[in-house]
Amino acid sequence: MSRKRILITGGAGFLGSHLCDRFIKEGFHVIAMDNLITGSLQNIEHLFKLEQFEFYNHDVSKFVHIPGELHYILHFASPASPIDYLKIPIQTLKVGSLGTHNLLGLARAKGSRMLIASTSEIYGDPAVNPQPESYWGNVNPVGPRGVYDEAKRFQEAITMAYHTFHKLETRIVRIFNTYGPRMRLNDGRALPAFIGQALRGEDITVFGDGSQTRSFCYVDDLVEGIYRLLFSDYAYPVNIGNPDEITILDFAKEIIKLTGTQQKIVFKDLPIDDPKQRRPDITLAKQILNWAPTVDRKTGLEITYDYFKRLPEETLYNREH
Ligand code: NAD
Ligand code: UDP
Repeated sequence: MSRKRILITGGAGFLGSHLCDRFIKEGFHVIAMDNLITGSLQNIEHLFKLEQFEFYNHDVSKFVHIPGELHYILHFASPASPIDYLKIPIQTLKVGSLGTHNLLGLARAKGSRMLIASTSEIYGDPAVNPQPESYWGNVNPVGPRGVYDEAKRFQEAITMAYHTFHKLETRIVRIFNTYGPRMRLNDGRALPAFIGQALRGEDITVFGDGSQTRSFCYVDDLVEGIYRLLFSDYAYPVNIGNPDEITILDFAKEIIKLTGTQQKIVFKDLPIDDPKQRRPDITLAKQILNWAPTVDRKTGLEITYDYFKRLPEETLYNREH
């Protein structure tokens, strides 16, 4: 049997590695590409023994070459947590712009269908809640988060241009906050930050007064949504996320209950331009993909906590990635 071949950029990262697993399971030949700037080979080491899996250590902001046929490309390479993209702002802008351009060129040359990982961050600090795909957003281009938000907005624009001008088959997923096993304990995002603090016996750091909201989606639900979108015929952006919205203060309290930590909540400065509210409107995903999340936060958090608990102890204190 000749397998369909799929390139997954960012394949050693949190979401990319789960996508590698899913497409291997579905019988694809999976080519993961990653420069390991925020990812880790540990996330995909279980796949190295498979002959239908290949790994390229490569920066996609530089020319990308893949020998042979290529049917699909999933472009997931990009730093994704605020502390990552604040630390490497230029690489973040480059992978969203130059990297996307390189991969669109590759898709054109190979006749591949390409799906890009966009984000709820393109809505910025949204003035409407929940956010439908028709909302254009409220982004500060020159604020610290602008390097990520604008790279992703450019990524959507160039992808649509290749679709309309070159008739390339493209898909755009706008991903809302997603969590699960293989997140990096020290990537600064709320969930690993709180669980890491609980496991180390440190206080839980809530930024601002904790009244800002997020809506957390379990990774398996996200992967299912992406899988359905790739094989749909819809080229415009689609939100995938869990609409179950919660304040960050209540979320911190949930983590305290889950972990049984005796530590207290301490309040720190709210980062600049931190969105005050975020919740996906998933009407479109329901309509065209027949998709809705199935894993509630309690279940998803238990699985994720179990993963973090089993990590070797030194991981808890490793401030590098
Ligand atoms: P991650 O940091 O775990 O994974 C990103 C991967 O991309 C890493 O393995 C990193 O090494 C790799 N990478 C970065 N720059 C690269 C480059 N120039 N060349 C090759 N590889 C490179 O982050 P994640 O949470 O898995 O996010 C994956 C994608 O999903 C990103 O595009 C992100 O913007 C998007 N996204 C994620 C979320 C979320 O909640 N996790 C939300 C919205 C969008
Ligand atoms: N946050 C927090 N304490 C932390 C880390 C994050 O209160 O130690 C807050 C952060 O300010 C934001 C929310 O949690 O309001 C979600 O942050 P995260 O970095 O996970 O995602 P994003 O801001 O990109 O949605």
